[in-house]
Amino acid sequence: MDVWNCCPLTKATYKERKLTNTIVLHRCTVAKTPGDLVKAFADTTKFAAGFYTGGKTPYHFWIQENGQIGQLVPLAYNVPGAVQYNARSIQIAWERDTRKVPLKAIQRDAVIWLCATLNEAFGGNLKIVGHTEEAAASTDPNKVCPGNKTSLTRLRQDIVASTDDIHVLNPYTWLKNHGFEIKYG
Ligand SMILES: [Zn+2]
Repeated sequence: MDVWNCCPLTKATYKERKLTNTIVLHRCTVAKTPGDLVKAFADTTKFAAGFYTGGKTPYHFWIQENGQIGQLVPLAYNVPGAVQYNARSIQIAWERDTRKVPLKAIQRDAVIWLCATLNEAFGGNLKIVGHTEEAAASTDPNKVCPGNKTSLTRLRQDIVASTDDIHVLNPYTWLKNHGFEIKYG
């Protein structure tokens, strides 16, 4: 599997992240293509998707129903997806409303591959959480993300089982060599 880099040059400015110890999982069905998803979050008019994120895309990656992995924001930056996790996490959304239906098999395989690859890069002990799995991760107390139609417990087990013990010295250099986008410019 590989990552399709579609990080657009954007007017939004992202802060660099000092710490990476968590992966946050989301659902996101606001668009059908990565380009349209970034555009949706760039729209800051009242109650549009970007109204809540200050025009920033809140996920580093978006995994489409066909299993394609698009990178939306370079890895070195914070994205505003989940209040208390933003300064220490990589955030991944999938194109599937998993409050209602489970992930497609090909999509689930892509989630596992991506999370295992990131986990390898960052030492093998990343905590993997659903956005609203623990309290206070959303400003909206009624939000359910990503939903319980896909078991996060089983997903975590499969990610850990797929993580190779490879001792990466420099996560960003290693990920860059594997096709990931690290910074703009
Ligand atoms: Zn979410």
